[in-house]
Amino acid sequence: MTDREALWERLREPFDLLILGGGATGAGVLWEATLRGLKAALVEARDFASGTSSRSTKLLHGGVRYLELAFKRLDRRQFKLVVDALHERKVVMDLAPHLARPLTLVTPLFRPLEIPYYWTGLKLYDLLAGKRRLAPSRYLPPEEVARLFPDLPKTLGGVAYQDGQFADFRLNLALVLSALERGAVALNHAEATALLLEGGGCGGRWCGMGFRGRRWRSSPRPW
Ligand SMILES: Cc1cc2nc3c(=O)[nH]c(=O)nc-3n(C[C@H](O)[C@H](O)[C@H](O)COP(=O)(O)OP(=O)(O)OC[C@H]3O[C@@H](n4cnc5c(N)ncnc54)[C@H](O)[C@@H]3O)c2cc1C
Repeated sequence: MTDREALWERLREPFDLLILGGGATGAGVLWEATLRGLKAALVEARDFASGTSSRSTKLLHGGVRYLELAFKRLDRRQFKLVVDALHERKVVMDLAPHLARPLTLVTPLFRPLEIPYYWTGLKLYDLLAGKRRLAPSRYLPPEEVARLFPDLPKTLGGVAYQDGQFADFRLNLALVLSALERGAVALNHAEATALLLEGGGCGGRWCGMGFRGRRWRSSPRPW
């Protein structure tokens, strides 16, 4: 395992990219930057994935509700979000099968109009996933829903569809460790407290970062 003091020391080097926060966003950016040959460093105030990124619902999903929003609000951005997320769902499942698996979800139907509404919506979800689809969505008769969920009130059936489920904090850590292996710097318990500017004043070029508990000057590449 990499020596912490050595990592602190390496933070003095110039970097192309300094990332604040070691949650899903920071870890993903660190990994992508490292793959693209950038010299990147990440600092995390507490522990990697200790924030929202270890407390999610752990769904690896395209976002059925974003698809609904895309139609209700005629919002192309929501639509694109679903297409991109369905793509990423497959990427993560292929790259980290030990951390992700398919998960069957059932939407129970209580009103007659919900049957065509959810059936069509989830078929569209399948269609958008294309070759990256998991299992096709399907209508479940009321008896099957009652057998699966005996505590539910009487339904008109349900629609079953598949999304993914993943170990959020383990994936987070895997990205950080993989980037470290490829030469990136990643430090936990390192809270960034100040941007250091050349000459100390506003408008100066960014030349470093201050950290809580350390009088430290790192040198991200000036820009
Ligand atoms: C209830 C809930 C359920 C969710 N369910 C899902 C789901 O099922 N599937 C899904 O894909 N997404 C889900 N999400 C969304 C997902 O969890 C977030 O989008 C994601 O975790 C955000 O990651 P992040 O890295 O941006 O933020 P965080 O995980 O919050 O990371 C930010 C990090 O920055 C650090 N930090 C802050 N200030 C500093 C500083 N000055 N110096 C150094 N470090 C600092 C913090 O300590 C923290 O670790 C859910 C979100 C919520 C709230």
